[in-house]
Amino acid sequence: MRKPFIIANWKMNKNVHESVAFVKAIKEKLPTNKEIGIAAQAVSLYNMKEVAGNSNLQIIAQNASAELEGPYTGEISMRSLADAGVTYVMLGHLERRRLFNESNDAINQKVLAALQVGIIPIICTDEEMVQTEVNGKIHYVFQQLRSVLKGVPANKLSQVVISYEPSWAVGSSHQANPDVAEEGCQAIRQSLVEMYGNKIGDSIRILYGGSVNPDNIYKIMSKPNVDGALIGRASLDIESFLQMVNCVE
Ligand code: PEP
Repeated sequence: MRKPFIIANWKMNKNVHESVAFVKAIKEKLPTNKEIGIAAQAVSLYNMKEVAGNSNLQIIAQNASAELEGPYTGEISMRSLADAGVTYVMLGHLERRRLFNESNDAINQKVLAALQVGIIPIICTDEEMVQTEVNGKIHYVFQQLRSVLKGVPANKLSQVVISYEPSWAVGSSHQANPDVAEEGCQAIRQSLVEMYGNKIGDSIRILYGGSVNPDNIYKIMSKPNVDGALIGRASLDIESFLQMVNCVE
């Protein structure tokens, strides 16, 4: 059984005090039948964790270095994140790839570093589906996925979380379409099954991201291969976020 996972991606919004106040306001109101997380700016994470305590709120980093320590001025170490109580790190978000030129290789190194210190990577892919036909059977080729998962030990694979965020849907005025979300997540699952077999492919959680909001989340989350949502704009407001985390039984 894959436990649903709903994640707020606050990007570079909310200062430390606002982030802490948000956590205080929601932490007692979270359902326990899903995992809930907030990916916030690194400077806020420790304080957020202090306030979240043992509540059902995961504190998530939006990025980190592939190096665990050393002379890398301005970088953030996965080891320090783990020490601060961070349990997940988002890697390879569309904005990191586009605005900061992060390559699949660089993201792969970060994935391996996260696993080394016990932080679970949430790996974002924004690739369009590429279909090929082999012996009359459709295959989906997600080059990003293959590259970023290179060298991940088999026993760690099922912990990894994948998010599917088509680039045209992130931060856009497009309405998120539940069928598109299912088609993308299902194709990713099929690729994972082909790469690692049924047991692992069926156990990995795949989230959809791109213009999710309180009006469309229920239909998106009802799709069989969509195990959760990664939500940007609509997660910044407390009422809207609580509505979304409570959307499915
Ligand atoms: C995102 O940035 O990951 C995202 C999905 O943003 P939005 O929900 O605003 O489209």
